[in-house]
Amino acid sequence: MDTRTVGILGGGQLGRMLVEAANRLNVKTIILDEAVDSPAKQISNSKDHIIGSFNDPHAIEELASKCDVLTIEIEHVNIEALKNVQTKYPKLKIYPTIETISLIKDKFLQKGHLTKNSIAAVKSIPIPENTVDNLKQIGNELGYPFVLKSRTFAYDGRGNFVIKSQDDIVQGLVTLKDRPLYAEKWAPFIKELAVMVIRSIDGKIFSYPVVETVHQDNICHLCYAPARVPDSIQETAKLLAENAVQSFRDCGIFGVEMFLMEDGELFVNEIAPRPHNSGHYTIDSCVTSQFEAHLRSILSLPLPKNFTQFATSNTNAIMLNVLGGNTANSELEFCKKALETAGCSVYLYGKESRPKRKVGHINIISSSMKDCERKLDSILGVSSTITP
Ligand code: ATP
Ligand code: MG
Ligand code: MG
Repeated sequence: MDTRTVGILGGGQLGRMLVEAANRLNVKTIILDEAVDSPAKQISNSKDHIIGSFNDPHAIEELASKCDVLTIEIEHVNIEALKNVQTKYPKLKIYPTIETISLIKDKFLQKGHLTKNSIAAVKSIPIPENTVDNLKQIGNELGYPFVLKSRTFAYDGRGNFVIKSQDDIVQGLVTLKDRPLYAEKWAPFIKELAVMVIRSIDGKIFSYPVVETVHQDNICHLCYAPARVPDSIQETAKLLAENAVQSFRDCGIFGVEMFLMEDGELFVNEIAPRPHNSGHYTIDSCVTSQFEAHLRSILSLPLPKNFTQFATSNTNAIMLNVLGGNTANSELEFCKKALETAGCSVYLYGKESRPKRKVGHINIISSSMKDCERKLDSILGVSSTITP
């Protein structure tokens, strides 16, 4: 389909699902990951994969030397190394761009970028030095609770600490010791929404349906597509996400996480410049999955007109993340139940089972959300619907 080689920084489950899409199109991929048998490498038999960190300049250089296009499955990559390879290989395409990754990987710069572009985001203030006095002052300004967040290397809520009162300040500073921090106003949201958005090379914006995510212990647990909110809210969320992604002038897929407030107001929580957990439902329910759409857009391959839409007008979906159970592989019980349930697809990532580790997901598809919920209940072994 295309003779160009795509290099992927990071070879976890997002990389694995990108490779899956690439494999079907005969697009060659090369994975850079520290593990010899990372989830993405497991499904791609190439001698060119690189064992190394997406932060190691030498490993990034080696990857760049073998590829025509670079993309990422994680934003915590070495920016300086990417700049160097771009200089050394001017023809190399890097999507998302180095500028976008730099802005997004530092959550405080990301918030500044959004505010500058008039995108509603949660109020954030810098913390010049991690001291108790500084945080007390911030507490006076933002009120309590507020969230202390690491600017960099955050995921699954690791990097966040909620300061409920002045008494939590010392513990917050101990927990997030030595990390560059900023503070965020508490958002008393009623739901969390997310939208996957594609920007094409020529600046066209395409958004997938608005979904609702439910987190447990800061980790995405469930994703309802479409979100169970009125159409007017879906429309506002879609526009906010599209405007947010348009502001990056980039190419490829982005995940936009948002907070829905009681009065209907929406704020962007954060943006991921890559495929996202809240877009896994697209594999079984949309015309083109988030992974394939990303790949096709960064390679300028054709996409059908309605590629971000549900496959049918009455498609409903719930995605359940499969997290490692307290005893290794106990989570497979949910997967087995899903295998015997019509309309369910199980995706396992080839990762060792460890408590709370994301090891897979299950997509439940039906013509009604009620039926998806019934199937979810049956998989989870509960008698009543989970209401967020
Ligand atoms: P991810 O795995 O999504 O990248 P992360 O580590 O970057 O997670 P955030 O998305 O910043 O973390 O926060 C994780 C969760 O914590 C959010 O989904 C939300 O439930 C809660 N949260 C974050 N910021 C706030 C806030 N300002 N007010 C209230 N809740 C918040
Ligand atoms: Mg994040
Ligand atoms: Mg998040």
